Order: sequence, then C-alpha cells, then structure tokens
Amino acid sequence: MDFEYTQSEQNFRSEVRQFLDENLPAATDKGPVFMKHWLKKVREKRWVGFSWPKSVGGGGGNIMEQVILKEEMSARKAPPLGTCMMGLAWVGPGIIQYGTEEQKERFLPDILDSKYHWCTGYSEPNVGSDLAALQCKATRDRDEYIINGTKIWTSLAPFASWISMLVRTDNFGETDNKHDGITALLVDLSTQGIDIKPIENMAGGKVFAQIFFDNVRVPIKNRLGEEGNGWAVTISSLANERSSIGEVAGLYTKLEKLTDLLSTSKWNGQAAITDKKIRRTLGRFEAKIEAMRLNGLRYLTKQIKGEPLSSETSVNKLHRAELEVEMGDFAVEKLGEAGLQLRNQEDAVRTGYWATDSLNWPTVVIGGGTPNIQKNIIAERILGLPKD
Ligand SMILES: Cc1cc2nc3c(=O)[nH]c(=O)nc-3n(C[C@H](O)[C@H](O)[C@H](O)COP(=O)(O)OP(=O)(O)OC[C@H]3O[C@@H](n4cnc5c(N)ncnc54)[C@H](O)[C@@H]3O)c2cc1C
Repeated sequence: MDFEYTQSEQNFRSEVRQFLDENLPAATDKGPVFMKHWLKKVREKRWVGFSWPKSVGGGGGNIMEQVILKEEMSARKAPPLGTCMMGLAWVGPGIIQYGTEEQKERFLPDILDSKYHWCTGYSEPNVGSDLAALQCKATRDRDEYIINGTKIWTSLAPFASWISMLVRTDNFGETDNKHDGITALLVDLSTQGIDIKPIENMAGGKVFAQIFFDNVRVPIKNRLGEEGNGWAVTISSLANERSSIGEVAGLYTKLEKLTDLLSTSKWNGQAAITDKKIRRTLGRFEAKIEAMRLNGLRYLTKQIKGEPLSSETSVNKLHRAELEVEMGDFAVEKLGEAGLQLRNQEDAVRTGYWATDSLNWPTVVIGGGTPNIQKNIIAERILGLPKD
C-alpha cells in the first residue's frame, strides 16, 4: 500500500478544493435554485459519471482521482454529483458494458443530466437472497417480450421513470443451472399493464414499492445483453463501486453528529460527553470506522493493480451494517423518551434525525444482501469453510 499522492493527484485535489470554494456556499440554504446551478456546474466539469469513459460523456477519471473527488466532496458535505443515483451507480455502467449503441445514445446522456430516476427490479415476494430463483416471466412474441409477474421492495419505484429488471426467459427448471435463462430488460414504467403500489416503511417513508406486470409489452431492443445472459450483466454491473469510501465518509459524518448530540445533552445529571462509558463507546465507534477505512484501502490497492474485487467486500458490508445499527441505537438510548420522536414531529430532538435513522436500519442491513448472506460468503469463499 502506497499512501503518497503523485504531483498530478495533488494538483487534482487542489482543483477540486478551488471549485468547492467557488461554488459551494457555506450557508445551509441548498434549495432547488442552488441544486440546478450545482448540477450544471459539476456536469460541465464532467464530474457526473466521473469514472465513465469520456467517449460516452463521462469524466474518464482514474481510480485515485475518483477517490480524491469523493474525499473532498464528503469533507465539505457537498450535494451529490448527479441525482440519478441508480443510473450512475449500476444501470449506466451496465449499459456501457453490455448496451447497444442505440441504448447508449438514448439513456446515458439522460442519466448524466439527472433527467429522471431509474430503479432496480431484482427481488420478488418469494425471491430475495436466492435471486437466481426469480420467477417474473417474459415470453417472446416476435419483436417484443411480454412480462407477467411482480417485483417487490423496489427502491425509488414511486418516483422512477425506468426500471432495469431481471426476468426469466426460459421455463424454470428447463436448464440444469437456474442462472441460465435470466434476461435483463430496460422497461419504461409508463408502459400499459404496469401497476406501482408504494410500500410504507416503519419510519414512515414511502420510497419503495411492489410493481405488478400484467402482459407488459417491451420491445426486444430494450434487452440489455444477450437473452439468457442477465446474470452476468447483473454481477458485473453491481461490482462497479465497492471500495466503500462513500460509506466511511458517511459514518464519520454520523459520528460527528453523535458527538455533537452528546456534547449538548445530559446523562446522569451531567454533560453526557463527560461520562466515561459514553466516551469509551464513541472511541470504539471511531476505531471501527477507521478499521473499515483501512480495509477499504486494501480494496483500493487491489483495484489500482487491476485485480477484480470479489468476496472480500462482504467484510465491510457486514461491518458497516452492525456499526450503523449500534450507533443509531446508542443515540436513541441516550436521548431517552425524546429519542422516540420521529422526523418532523413536534418537540423532536434535532428534528427527529436519530429516531428516524434507527428505524431505517433495513436500508443498510438488508438492502444489497443480508448479514447472513455476507457471513456465508466470508465463511465459504474467504475462510474456505465447508458449505454444510
Ligand atoms: C431498504 C431496502 C431497499 C431495497 N431495495 C431493493 C431494490 O431496489 N431492488 C430490489 O430488487 N430489491 C431491493 N430490496 C430487497 C432486498 O434485496 C432483499 O430484501 C434481500 O435480498 C433479502 O431478501 P428477502 O427479503 O427475500 O429475504 P430472504 O432471502 O427470504 O431472507 C430471510 C432471512 O433468511 C436468511 N437467509 C436466506 N438465505 C439464507 C442462507 N442461504 N443462509 C443463511 N441465511 C439465509 C436471511 O439472512 C434473512 O435473515 C431492498 C430491501 C430493503 C430492506
């Protein structure tokens, strides 16, 4: 691991800092007018889709430049570089790798311009961890597929315009390997036969939905990759961003908020931050985040050497899930009754951030694969333990 930065990397860091000085107001007012200006500016810099090749409108940034950009943006708590989250994270990279020229021209500029949201349709009511058992079916009718079935827990579906989804195009059980016969489709959510039913989570948010497909016709030109190759398309798209720099920055911000909260609250009749046990817990959280950061640097070193990342990223995924829950629970406990007030409720401490945060644990714990599944991966693929 080499911790030194080259001259050109240092120059790039200065460029980012200067841009932030000039374009990021210190005031907290970052409303729609500011966001419009911000998105235009970062797009001009080609920092939206910074890791994408220049030939498709991206920034062509190398891995270290991507890290520097993320570090500087999170240090200044800058707004996101583009608002089409799923499009930038994996739908776009999937299209770059597997899409036709027509798909690239049609979808990539819209993702970079934050025109609309994409969502991802993998999970079904009986299919989650064992994704390859999916049953939502697409049958071929000349130059169209006809989709029937349902997807669930689809984040952002209530606001999205398009879905990148997996369907079964063979008869289940026809092939020996259930990964075969899965196909990736890009589907316009305004197509006839699609019904999106939002699901409210326990913190009161309505960000995901169940989607029903009833004889939905999709042109074959909207297929991503070959028919039956959807598994490979998914795996390589999801492998795109895994070095956990974003998560570590988010955890440090959360620790800052927690420290700030305890600096202004009382515990056992004295300032909470002076309590020995509380200080020890905060120290333990910091050590855990730092361990995650250093582990992330190991992944980064591999990426710089051009080696693909695989099972090792499950370590940070598992570690982060535990830590987020621990930190949220700790804050709510220390707030006592006030810790039960949800966001925007009257009298909520710090506008209910901690109560809402602690009820949102499924996002980091279940979304993207449960802890049990991460443990299986670590046990089987890293530690080499037997499957049964
Ligand atoms: C906030 C949030 C956002 C989400 N967003 C999306 C999205 O945008 N798109 C999408 O497609 N899906 C999304 N999901 C769904 C998510 O991917 C699934 O919930 C997850 O993969 C688990 O699947 P499941 O809910 O069917 O649970 P199951 O797979 O049925 O698991 C139930 C329990 O059994 C355990 N288990 C299952 N298999 C094993 C095993 N082999 N060994 C040991 N234990 C096992 C699990 O760990 C879990 O505790 C989201 C979920 C959440 C909570």
